[in-house]
Amino acid sequence: MDYASPIVGNEGTRRLLLGNEAVARGALEAGIQIATAYPGTPSSEIADTLSKVAREFGLYMEYSVNEKVAVEVAAGAAVCGARALVSMKHVGLNVAADTLMTLAYVGVKGGFVIVTADDPSAWSSQNEQDNRYYALLANIPCLEPSSPQDAKDMLLYGFSLSEQLELPVMLRLVTRVSHMRGVVTFGQIQEKKSCKVEFPKDPQRFVMVPANARVRHVVLLEKMSSALKISEKSDFNRIVGRGRIGVVTSGASFNYCMESLALLGMKASVLKLGIIHPLPARLISNFVRRHNPIIIVEELEPYLELQVKALSRAAYNIPLYGKFDSLLPRHGELSTRKVVSALSRILHKSPSIDFDKIDAEASKAEKLAPSRPPVLCPGCAHRAAFYALKVAAGNRAIYSTDIGCYALGAQPPLSIGDILICMGSSVGLAGGIGKVVDDPVIGVVGDSTFFHASIPGLINAVYNSHKFVCVVLDNQTTAMTSFQPHAGTGITGMGEQVKPILIENIAKACGVEFVRVVDPYDLKLAISTVREALQHPAPSVIIFRRLCSILDLQTKRRKGEKIPQYRVEESKCNRCMACIKLLACPAILVAEGKVFIEETLCVGCGICAQICPMHAIAKVGETN
Ligand code: SF4
Ligand code: SF4
Repeated sequence: MDYASPIVGNEGTRRLLLGNEAVARGALEAGIQIATAYPGTPSSEIADTLSKVAREFGLYMEYSVNEKVAVEVAAGAAVCGARALVSMKHVGLNVAADTLMTLAYVGVKGGFVIVTADDPSAWSSQNEQDNRYYALLANIPCLEPSSPQDAKDMLLYGFSLSEQLELPVMLRLVTRVSHMRGVVTFGQIQEKKSCKVEFPKDPQRFVMVPANARVRHVVLLEKMSSALKISEKSDFNRIVGRGRIGVVTSGASFNYCMESLALLGMKASVLKLGIIHPLPARLISNFVRRHNPIIIVEELEPYLELQVKALSRAAYNIPLYGKFDSLLPRHGELSTRKVVSALSRILHKSPSIDFDKIDAEASKAEKLAPSRPPVLCPGCAHRAAFYALKVAAGNRAIYSTDIGCYALGAQPPLSIGDILICMGSSVGLAGGIGKVVDDPVIGVVGDSTFFHASIPGLINAVYNSHKFVCVVLDNQTTAMTSFQPHAGTGITGMGEQVKPILIENIAKACGVEFVRVVDPYDLKLAISTVREALQHPAPSVIIFRRLCSILDLQTKRRKGEKIPQYRVEESKCNRCMACIKLLACPAILVAEGKVFIEETLCVGCGICAQICPMHAIAKVGETN
């Protein structure tokens, strides 16, 4: 059944939306012509939502091969005068940074908004970097919403601001805004821009050779002076409430502040900053002068604090508290509790809420629902591939792994993952490790990640005679972020069928001589192929190809196919626990000392049956 998209509706409709869905709705209201993205939590729903309605609203949407390309494709359209949106998670901006830094010099014609979703507490990321500094570094305006309604309104404003200044504008989200739900009032969906979209040939502006770059840097600084005047007057920078105490905050932190002040029964003036670059210097300076004390509440780095302190030099005798006083941590998400505790330390007030009592209740609940760390799904082909690697290469081998579901393989008992840094890094790291150690080296990468950032590493490895096995776990989707297509899947963000690009062809074109495609469910072949690859004197590539077990299950259910089931024959099982200790499939359980397969979880991959030394596991209806 097709469900209507939550972002479709007439002007005036009020709907409960995720922050990311609100951004997608804002994009429709802004009349964007092009949206690009590389999926990454917590940003993925922006592109996924737009992908589903792109055709209906006449816009072009693509999942680009990586964030750098996504920014370039969208920027190409924006320099021609089209409105363009690009979205990514925070670390994606590292990949796109090279383009972004100089794009700020070149500027745009049509509105161009870059949405970056930061992940304080690193719920689904390899770091907690604070992307507000990218706005400062690239010197582009940055907006920071606190709610889904804010996110939609700021995105719309971001397009006008971008067109007014002819600059890319950044919209900085965090997990708690991307994934928070809130009521959003729909505005009118704009017609696509009627102005002529054409490439404005102007080499002095668009060709960044040194002589032009020096000039354009000055132009950028002038544009940002104009941006400062806009920031001083913007309604997005506003004071909420009234009191002697002054709180300076932005984004998700604003919500924690308001709740904390209510819990403490305190009156305060809260300066909610929506434009966080350039900061409204005069507004901040006046605010600081009129309040005492000043408390700066923000997540992660002391981005606001440093600037507020610099901007309010004249008010140096007013106590100004923030992260430099260890009032709030520089790591992890904030919470109402953390902010209450910080404010109560300074204001000597006790909250009307007993957090210890809540902790006691929470610990009771924890006993009823023990924590369940993320694991590979039942029937996941990565589990079979990891088992084959372990058998063939053993514990002595060094496994560099990458970003994706397969990072879960670093946990015991599979323990495939000795180093993980960022997208695509497994291949380069494996090359370097292989140059200095004698142990076997295996670089593990997923299919989407291979396209994203591994190909230069592979070319480098071949050309510079590195020695390692590159294992591509090809589950034919971008599974970790909700099954978006990639260049190897044969489907685009617009839902069109296209010719997939085969990883094996790329590997061969990179000069790899040993390239094999293996079904990891065929454990015997998988193990022998890894052994053969380890003997190869140059970089080798094994592509373990098998559709993600979730998609496989969905397809079978849709077609009404029977899902095979496996069971343990109790009479044959000697309880060696090999199936549990070596595979850790969540469907294999132990109760009262007996090993059994939970039929609601088993997807019938048959891997456990292949490794049971007693042949005690068999397909239901078959006996060994
Ligand atoms: S591997 Fe086979 S024999 Fe060993 S516990 Fe599992 S089912 Fe029983
Ligand atoms: S067949 Fe075995 S390994 Fe596969 S899902 Fe079922 S229990 Fe897990």
